[in-house]
Amino acid sequence: MPETTTDTQTRSGGCLCGKIRFTVTGSPDYPHVCSCVHCQKRAGGPMQSWVGFPLEGLRWTGDGGEPTWYDTFPGQTRRGFCATCGSHLAAFDYGDTISGINMTALDDRTGEDLIPVNQSFRGDAVAWLPHVPDTSRGPVRAEQ
Ligand SMILES: [Zn+2]
Ligand SMILES: [Zn+2]
Repeated sequence: MPETTTDTQTRSGGCLCGKIRFTVTGSPDYPHVCSCVHCQKRAGGPMQSWVGFPLEGLRWTGDGGEPTWYDTFPGQTRRGFCATCGSHLAAFDYGDTISGINMTALDDRTGEDLIPVNQSFRGDAVAWLPHVPDTSRGPVRAEQ
């Protein structure tokens, strides 16, 4: 991941109540939305928006420490949320070096590098919203 060494910007984020706070560093990796069944259930909405950051640059900085983790695929994927306010914050595939961050958890979501470039699990998407166009270039990462 050579691009992770060229972007040292630190971004901050957290949950709605503020107990769980974090910072991430490095280049955003594959911003996308996902309309899989898990994302819809967790979000209480038709999709979640994700962006990856290097796991080694992720720090949990709030009074609440790490989120509460729930294994959506036991032993494979866990997802973090605030147990107090319910905000969804992160996802992590065991063994991966990238952590998925819910874009909605970032304090600043305005960067062009945070515009979703694809939509995962289009087949599970609701019929009443248009799909996010696939503008990704290069290899498609594993689904979040
Ligand atoms: Zn919270
Ligand atoms: Zn999903």
